Parts: sequence; C-alpha cells; structure tokens
Amino acid sequence: MNLITHVLIGVYIQILCFIFFAFPFNFLLTLLIAFLSHFIVDAFSKITYHTPEPHWDDKFWLSWNIIVRVSGYIAIILFFPYYLGMLFANLPDIWDWVIVRRIQKRRNINGEIDYHHNNFFHRIVDKIREKTLFWLPNWIYEKKAVIPEILIDIALIIGIIFLMI
Ligand SMILES: [Zn+2]
Repeated sequence: MNLITHVLIGVYIQILCFIFFAFPFNFLLTLLIAFLSHFIVDAFSKITYHTPEPHWDDKFWLSWNIIVRVSGYIAIILFFPYYLGMLFANLPDIWDWVIVRRIQKRRNINGEIDYHHNNFFHRIVDKIREKTLFWLPNWIYEKKAVIPEILIDIALIIGIIFLMI
C-alpha cells in the first residue's frame, strides 16, 4: 500500500506498544510489529489501486500518487515522535523501492526498468498474498480501489485519535 497507510499503521503500533509494554519491550515490539505489519498490509494491496508501473500521463494516477505521498509526508511531520514505528513500518519499501531500485536503475543499460525484479521484501509479500489472500479480487488497476485504502486510513486516524485522547 501507500506511504500514508504504512505511516499511520506505524504510529498506531508504536502508541499501542508504549501503552501496553514497559521498557525495553515497548521499543523492541514497536520495531518488530511495525516491520511485520508491512508484509500484512502490502499483502492486502491487491484490493487497492496500486499499479506496479507508473502512469504519468493518467491524471487520476498522478493525483492519487501525489495525495498519498504528500499526506504521508504531512503525517510524518505531525507524528514525528513516533518515528521509530513509522520508519520500521516503511522499511521494506525504503529498501526495495528506494535503495534497490536506485541501484538497479543505475545498472540498467537498456533504459528499461523491470518493476517486478529485485524487490527482495516484496517477493515475500507476493508469497504471503499467493498463499493466503488468493481469494481476494485483484483491483490494482481499478480506480474505485482507492476507496478501500481511504477507508483503512480513516479507520487508522480515528484509532490513533482514540488512543491519544
Ligand atoms: Zn511495500
């Protein structure tokens, strides 16, 4: 799923861990659960609008990607004290999409990028999805599939507010 969703999950997990566990378990469990959350959340990305390749000429794709990214950055600033949860909830994306993809791009001589290759953590996500969530519909190219992700994000924001008040 997108940056905003992983950020909100990370924040939610860190708040919960710090409510229920004492030092050092609050820290350790935040790192572990936030990291593992990425695999579960991404396994469900099949029911969200999530094209594997960019569609720069499609205004809907462009707007959606700007919204989920900018809202993600705003959430990072707003919830900065929960940076550990946010960081570990996004670690597989940082590794696969930022670090590995950058190296891969530099190595690519044909100018063609294979978006399915070399995604180390997301291959594990694909396996989890194939083994457990194969029964879910595949909406990655369906524009209406922004709705499930928006609903998840709203639920997370409400959950975070409830934990904070
Ligand atoms: Zn991911």
